[in-house]
Amino acid sequence: MKNQNQKIVIIGAGLCGSLLALRMAQRGYQVQLIEKRPDLRDVTQDAGRSINLALSDRGLKALRLAGVEQDALKLCIPMLGRMIHDKEGNTFMSNYSGRENEYINSISRPGLNMLLLDAAEAMSNVEIIFNKGCTKVNLENGIATFKDYNTKDEITYSGDIILGTDGAGSVVRKAMFNDRNFLFSFSQNWLTHGYKEITIPAAKDGGYRTEKGALHIWPRGEDMLIALPNLDGSFTVTLFAPYSNSDYCFDNLTTPEMVMAYFKTEYPDAVTLMPNLVEEFFGNPTGPLGTIKCSPWSSFGKVCLLGDSAHAIVPFYGQGMNASFEDVVVFDEILNKHESKNNESNDWKKIFYAYEMARKKDTDAIADLAVDNFHEMKEHTASPLFQQKRKLEMAFESQFPTEYFSKYSLVTFNEDITYHAAMTLGRAQDKAILNLLDDGKLTDDMAVKEKLALVKKETAEALHDD
Ligand code: FAD
Repeated sequence: MKNQNQKIVIIGAGLCGSLLALRMAQRGYQVQLIEKRPDLRDVTQDAGRSINLALSDRGLKALRLAGVEQDALKLCIPMLGRMIHDKEGNTFMSNYSGRENEYINSISRPGLNMLLLDAAEAMSNVEIIFNKGCTKVNLENGIATFKDYNTKDEITYSGDIILGTDGAGSVVRKAMFNDRNFLFSFSQNWLTHGYKEITIPAAKDGGYRTEKGALHIWPRGEDMLIALPNLDGSFTVTLFAPYSNSDYCFDNLTTPEMVMAYFKTEYPDAVTLMPNLVEEFFGNPTGPLGTIKCSPWSSFGKVCLLGDSAHAIVPFYGQGMNASFEDVVVFDEILNKHESKNNESNDWKKIFYAYEMARKKDTDAIADLAVDNFHEMKEHTASPLFQQKRKLEMAFESQFPTEYFSKYSLVTFNEDITYHAAMTLGRAQDKAILNLLDDGKLTDDMAVKEKLALVKKETAEALHDD
């Protein structure tokens, strides 16, 4: 079998690491996947953060590549659009796309992780090791040191290469940061906002207490609540709010009375759905939200970062996991081009370099788009201009499905266009539509076709200006 003489150590068996292990094993490599936490299939544990996630086309493409898409789809709940809740409790639905069959999916993080672990473990050339946390990495020699949380012993693992998929707080990345032998660029930007999860439990009959097929948003300018459905009838609700310097911020919400007063004022219809609000508000952690960019992603042709360890992003485009899964697709394509032909050993330095060259500008793009969407979701989704724009885009997409793709559609439903290309075109379209609406040039008496022609012309000019 091809590649069977080469051993790969993957550090971190989260979403990216477990999919990567599966795919590398399918390519014939000997894989050791090492995770610091206990096996989540045996030990119920707090998923750490975000119990459920929005899975969309880029992520599905990666799951398809590894042959697990159909199994993953069984865990999915389609969300056709954003259901916006105003302060009076009125709701309206804003679909994600004017085309049929374009929607995102709510999926359980642990459920998906377990599925991937099962699939990886079913391969005879994968060994999964739990309860061992990486503490340091010798980059030049490809040797990683771990602490065994059961025995407290120190243990080392080495391979032809090490792939670091140990998430946003990556120890592998820190080893690169601390290595004075090569130049490593790193940036970490925190939002002033944090997040906290709360639950809308299932109704008594096991059904859903509010619309199941939507991602619910309560946009309030500075703060925002969102909710995604779970298969058991519950919703996972996430509050995004500033840490400080605001009337309603985590630093101020210190008593049950304050929390209830805040939710009753800002989210009256949600309060009635969350019987354990106060208990969960004080029981659940407040998580920070940040963007991490770094370069290079690899060192000495021995170690390479993938997933959040290379590019953690804020969650407002619902793309962090999708991007991490897409990393696996891009890495796979690079291997198709550069893997050695006759089962000799690969030139990993060349492979890692080609991978980063192919990928970095796209992960930078989705990082920036995710920050833009933070502002769009909390401030603009409720604004009349934004709604006018969305209405127009929906008309374009439904009447001219092959001619127009909104920025959201380009990012979320177009797995064949890169994030960078989606960002460039999407931003130009946004600029064009907003300018035309602002200037009153898209009048009611115009046919949709005429409006589309004008938007395309203005978009071409915006692209040209940039
Ligand atoms: P992780 O999932 O963080 O996995 C890293 C793994 O490495 C973990 O299992 C960890 O225990 C292990 N590990 C860490 N350190 C060590 C060590 N020293 N030794 C060994 N193992 C280690 N993305 C979406 O696409 N859609 C969404 O809707 C979405 N919503 C989100 C909501 C929130 C609130 C947040 C915070 C993120 C969200 N994301 C979303 C982003 C998504 O969670 C991440 O992009 C994704 O989990 C990245 O996968 P990963 O495997 O790279 O990292």
